Amino acid sequence: MQFSEFELRPEILSQLEEMGFKEPTPIQTAVIPTILKGKDVSGLAQTGTGKTGAFVIPLLDRWLKAKEDSQAWKKNSYYLILVPTRELAAQVDKAVKELGAKTDVKTACIYGGAGYDEQKKALKDNPTFVVGTPGRLLDLYKTHDLDLNAVKAIVFDEADRMFDMGFKDDMKYILRRVPRERQFLLFSATLNFDVINTAYQFGAEPVEYNISRDQATAEGVEHEILHVGDNEKPMYLLSILKKHAPLQCIVFSNFKNNVGRIAKFLKINGVEATAMSSLLSQMQRNKVLEAFKTGKKTILVATDVAARGLDIKGVDLVINFELPDDSEGYVHRIGRTGRAGTKGKAVGLVSDKDVDALQRIEIYLKEKINTGWFEDAELIKEFKPFPAYDDFRFEKPEHKPHRQKSEHHHHQKRDAHGGGGRHQHRDRHSGRHSNPYKDQRPKHPQNAQKQGHYKQSQSHQHKQLKQNNQQHFKRRPLKPVTSLAQQTPNTQAVGIAGKIKNFLTKLFS
Ligand code: AMP
Repeated sequence: MQFSEFELRPEILSQLEEMGFKEPTPIQTAVIPTILKGKDVSGLAQTGTGKTGAFVIPLLDRWLKAKEDSQAWKKNSYYLILVPTRELAAQVDKAVKELGAKTDVKTACIYGGAGYDEQKKALKDNPTFVVGTPGRLLDLYKTHDLDLNAVKAIVFDEADRMFDMGFKDDMKYILRRVPRERQFLLFSATLNFDVINTAYQFGAEPVEYNISRDQATAEGVEHEILHVGDNEKPMYLLSILKKHAPLQCIVFSNFKNNVGRIAKFLKINGVEATAMSSLLSQMQRNKVLEAFKTGKKTILVATDVAARGLDIKGVDLVINFELPDDSEGYVHRIGRTGRAGTKGKAVGLVSDKDVDALQRIEIYLKEKINTGWFEDAELIKEFKPFPAYDDFRFEKPEHKPHRQKSEHHHHQKRDAHGGGGRHQHRDRHSGRHSNPYKDQRPKHPQNAQKQGHYKQSQSHQHKQLKQNNQQHFKRRPLKPVTSLAQQTPNTQAVGIAGKIKNFLTKLFS
């Protein structure tokens, strides 16, 4: 299959050639003809499969055709792309600019945590594409800077993540206000109830494409697991890095608070590493990411939330310090390597605490993951020990996990970090296994409490947590403490009853 078979405009075809896109990826082959016809689409595709191009290329083509007719494309018409995080917004915005480099395409990139003036200016300039996170887009709708009546097509990119991050209401609010005759494109890495429901509630007979299930693992990625003792993980981490000598590597951890410790462990053992979790401010995250993208840093230690959707081409090794609890998350993680046809390697460290997750992942993948091994001589046995919990410096609390009273304020807060308040909870819950290092952690009496404690006010949580920590570290003055959600690895609190309740709430909402 060639791009030329889609009969795209010459300015798009020649740009694709210049970018080295020789032929369309499977998701592009599947959805481009349907989108070109103006039909609604719901596509199941992971990042790394070329899904951004899958909707940007045909939309660019449609725009070039439509703008020749002043009725079909008014001066203020535009395509609206909703994404879950500001990083992804910047990535998609860049992709539109690149793919449309030979056209006079204009974009507005809209996300929280940045000034309003520049974004308002970009919106006034009649952009062809508006790419943004739901919260800030809604803010600008409410201040009349964003005209939802002028939307020609609306795209939900990583729809499942947006739902996970608590954007459901905002997404539906926006969908209800765009014209009925718009094109609706929905892309998601997983199919959950909300995703299916939205596609069929708002899509006019959406054409469904499912690319990722059959090709769940990225083709160029060779992945394996190592069965290790729980306390052997640090030793194996060092040994894997030595053995594979990656050009760029991402080490994933399920726990925000472990990310800093793993990076520190590597550093004290002479391996330069940098940590990125949502404990960092957005500005810090940008800096870390830039250093990693430009190759200044070789090893990035990250949580799923922080590394979600990142497209970094040079990553040739992914290490799962713990296996993720959700199987799609595993595919997402190992898909950070082997990008766009390159070869990559992924190694998962599996202790007895990871075996449940391993089982689920293998059922999902419908295959057994190869087990690797290390010769005794390949193991690094002399190293400085894993830092104790006490050594970890708490960062300033990043954001409040509860909805603010004022919608406007709420969006600002939430979007400032490119994500939803609720993902704080989710990230914590995502590690169903107890933290392997929990013995070194301060004990929180709240852990024993059931779901009810989430309802406590944030300030109350903070106060209690501070008291507990002050008791724990009697002799040591403490820095400000992170939120309860960030600190408590206890996942029992939500429990089965909570999950059922959440499901029922979603079902009937
Ligand atoms: P995405 O899934 O949109 O994050 O895309 C992953 C990577 O694949 C990006 O770096 C794109 O530039 C690249 N890509 C997308 N489509 C193609 C294509 N047809 N041929 C080669 N690379 C592509």
